[in-house]
Amino acid sequence: MGTRLYLIRLGEISLKGLNRPFFEKKLKNNIKTKLRPYHNVVTKQKGRLYFEIDNECPREQCDLAFSTTFGIVGYAEAVRVNKDMDTIKDTVRSLLKVSSFTNKGSFKVHAKRSDKNFPLSSHQLSCELADVVHESFPDLDVSLSDPDHILYIEIRNKAYIYTTMKKGPNGLPVSTAGKGMLLLSGGIDSPVAGYRMASRGMKLECIYFHAYPYTSEMALEKVKMLTSKIAPYLQGTRLHVVGFTEQQLWIKSHCNTDETTLMFRACMMKVATKLANIYDGTALVTGEALSQVASQTLDSMAFTNSTTDMLIIRPLVGMNKEEIMRTSEEIDTYNTSILPYEDCCVIFSPKHPLTRPDVEVENEHYREMGIDALLDKAVEETVTYDFFANGKEKVIADAEIAAKKADDMEDTE
Ligand code: ATP
Ligand code: MG
Repeated sequence: MGTRLYLIRLGEISLKGLNRPFFEKKLKNNIKTKLRPYHNVVTKQKGRLYFEIDNECPREQCDLAFSTTFGIVGYAEAVRVNKDMDTIKDTVRSLLKVSSFTNKGSFKVHAKRSDKNFPLSSHQLSCELADVVHESFPDLDVSLSDPDHILYIEIRNKAYIYTTMKKGPNGLPVSTAGKGMLLLSGGIDSPVAGYRMASRGMKLECIYFHAYPYTSEMALEKVKMLTSKIAPYLQGTRLHVVGFTEQQLWIKSHCNTDETTLMFRACMMKVATKLANIYDGTALVTGEALSQVASQTLDSMAFTNSTTDMLIIRPLVGMNKEEIMRTSEEIDTYNTSILPYEDCCVIFSPKHPLTRPDVEVENEHYREMGIDALLDKAVEETVTYDFFANGKEKVIADAEIAAKKADDMEDTE
């Protein structure tokens, strides 16, 4: 039973100063979680992590781990050998045999000499190895600007050689920037909003407001599917499902029709704030984008902000729909998001919602609804699911969490 070596390229983390070890350690642990139960040994050098993994770990599991872990710019399966030219050349010869190199098109050698004691310069090394490539593939042209194939070599403590560098998701490791509660509907935007905040290191738990039977079981299934799709990027997450039927009906019958969307949003923020307090979140994250729909005007957002003391982060606020859709395709949530099960907002939304609400007037109308006790009830009855970093799900039937909720309710009374 041998091992495989993966070279991980780091980006923004390498620019960090004194706190770099903190980010590197998180990254290492985030990757390790995804490679369980396989044994792996990690070593670290400037701008690089090296994972040596049991051969028994399927390549697909490694690919999933590296391609979904924020902090990774790129990764490659590499060969590590001693820094003498004969060994290096022999290694290149055997690596080329199993690589995607063909005799068609062009190539370049990408050589990087970090160990300045190595006798050849990067350029000399490139030239020597280009000759080795030509032994096997005499028809390949050299193209430095747009090659079809690349042979990489890095001279550090050892020589690292590889031919395929795959893309990582970039950003910073999850759990380096506090925790937020993501308001996750079944739409296109909110999964992307979660992805964006996770890419800045935020840990997220998701909240979904479910108005059964006005929204179907399928709508909930869809949100669960979306949660499991983003779970690898989020390093695992929870999904809190808040039953909101009674509350929605109450809103509908206790405010003006054109205010229902605003009131619904106010109630969502208040419940999300309570859940954030229970689960130690310090921000709410939504998928709103300025002017995308009637309820996403500046005035409406100002009203929403006035309904909670908690920071509301809207990572998509300045993005166009196409940009958001492109990201949702990249993270593979798009096809799930466009499934036709409507979320509760759609069903309860008025034809002509108020787009320029007066913050004070609307807060007064909110108070007149007298809905606070019903919101507490919604929090108490919330059902929570755990989603692991590999996308698998389980219901938390956890007495500890129930006790946590009871405790918190007492504190706020
Ligand atoms: P999305 O594509 O994310 O559904 P949207 O364009 O449909 O967004 P709205 O329905 O106005 O816009 O919702 C704006 C934001 O409010 C959503 O991105 C999400 O963060 C939150 N939200 C809306 N409905 C729900 C819900 N049922 N459960 C949880 N969050 C919701
Ligand atoms: Mg929506």
